[in-house]
Amino acid sequence: MKSILNKSSLFNPGHKYGRLGWLTECLLLIVIALAIATLFALRITQQEMHALAQPHQLSDRWHITNATLGLYDLGHAARTTQQQPRPDNAYDDLRIKLDVAASMLNPGEFNNNFMQMLSSSQPDTKQVLTDLNQRLVAWSEALLGGADAGPIARQITEQVDDMTEQMRQIVLAVHIATVMEQDQMRLNLHDKFALLNWILCALLAGIILLVVKLIKDRQVMKRLFKHMHSLNKRLEGRVERRTRQLAESKALLMFILDASPSEAALVNADTGDVLFINKTMLDRLELQVAPDQLFLKDLLADPQKGLEFIDEVETYGRVDNWEALLMPHKPYWCSVSVKLVEIEGKLAHLLWGFDITEHRKLMHLLEQQANTDALTQLYNRRAFYQLGGQVLDSCKRYGHPCSLLMVDIDLFKQINDAYGHAAGDLAICSLSQTLRASLRDADIIGRMGGEEFAVLMPHTDLQQALESAERLRRAVEEKTISAEQHQVRMSISIGVAVFDADRLATLELMLLNADKALYRAKIAGRNRVEIL
Ligand code: GH3
Ligand code: MG
Ligand code: MG
Repeated sequence: MKSILNKSSLFNPGHKYGRLGWLTECLLLIVIALAIATLFALRITQQEMHALAQPHQLSDRWHITNATLGLYDLGHAARTTQQQPRPDNAYDDLRIKLDVAASMLNPGEFNNNFMQMLSSSQPDTKQVLTDLNQRLVAWSEALLGGADAGPIARQITEQVDDMTEQMRQIVLAVHIATVMEQDQMRLNLHDKFALLNWILCALLAGIILLVVKLIKDRQVMKRLFKHMHSLNKRLEGRVERRTRQLAESKALLMFILDASPSEAALVNADTGDVLFINKTMLDRLELQVAPDQLFLKDLLADPQKGLEFIDEVETYGRVDNWEALLMPHKPYWCSVSVKLVEIEGKLAHLLWGFDITEHRKLMHLLEQQANTDALTQLYNRRAFYQLGGQVLDSCKRYGHPCSLLMVDIDLFKQINDAYGHAAGDLAICSLSQTLRASLRDADIIGRMGGEEFAVLMPHTDLQQALESAERLRRAVEEKTISAEQHQVRMSISIGVAVFDADRLATLELMLLNADKALYRAKIAGRNRVEIL
């Protein structure tokens, strides 16, 4: 699985697929920024368009034009009034025209912007308007005050052309100023539109790039998905194969375990629930079907050993080749191994054991053969040294006396020569029986070679050793051996040595000393006990 992923370029961080998201995100951010910029440019353009609409300009131009027309009307009314046979009849019409013109020429009625704009080209506009207004107001008040309409109409007729000319100048200036202002605004608007245009173009380009990128991403994602799908398929195939292999391996393992001559079982470490048990184990337990529970400690014949065994498993997690007597009801020697394992998240004991009864018997036999003399079944020289050394050490440790006898058959060669080698063997066996019968179980008797024996007697001082040796000598002397229809008699000589921490502190020294005593006995005439 890992190798598949590693081989796949799709999972390589340096691969172009790895940069897909980053590029798309950048493009998306650019498009969003451009959209915001577009909104901003639209807002500015809208403000410019609103300014261009200039509703105040239209109203101001309408106002100033109407004021001029008002003056024309006033002039017309004044001339009409003069031509009337009775000017009083036109009084009302003249007065109305005067009021209308006066109200329209009031500088306070005009927009501030308008006045500022005009003052740049016509600095005395306000003054002109005020003057005209005051004249009209004066005529109107005179009429209201009951003055004769005729003279007033004449005054108006004389001045109205001049006043109209002044107004015409102002109207002209207003038109020129507003046209210039509108031109400027149109230029501004054009600039804003150009800006908006560029931003919209950039936005469009960004959107196109983003769309292209998204389409490519989609294609890559499709390829990626296909690749992942094929990977998944391969993985599923592998998992399926592996699962099948595992199932087959498990079945094979179970078969092997069942066919194994060794006992095998798997039990839950806490509950003792049996997870697996093989046929050999079932046969040992004399069961037909697997038990529900099995506890390790109950398998060992010795309960104390069982507790020690469990303690070892819990301490070290495993026990290897523990030799123990298993199955309390039908004990047999077994080499048991246990391992603490985890099965499906739970601790379990994997038990493995094999019967070593025959092995132990053989080992015991070999050990016995290695330590025993074949003819007499007594300890051989090697075993005598080993056991004798241990016994002597024990005596030394507790301060007990300890003695050693070295025994040799007198003139044994003659027995061999006279009655044959078999008779000689019989004589040796007879002596070994006498040694066993005369001595204690605690005494260690060894055949040191030929017809020579050594006896190590723990808890025995010189006196007791001499008595035992003498008793032994007599027993041999009195005994008769039947060989080849002959009654053979024999005697032994014995050398005695007693443990002495100063002089004879080791088994070797004691043997040497007893041998010398034996030699002395031989020289002194045989069939006797001697000590140095
Ligand atoms: P001594 O009184 O001085 O001991 O005289 P001896 O004849 O006993 O002398 P020695 O101890 O030298 O003789 C030992 C003989 O024992 C020599 C050998 O042939 C014989 N012999 C050694 N081992 C065996 C055995 O296993 N069986 C038999 N039949 N004879 C053995
Ligand atoms: Mg000898
Ligand atoms: Mg001898």
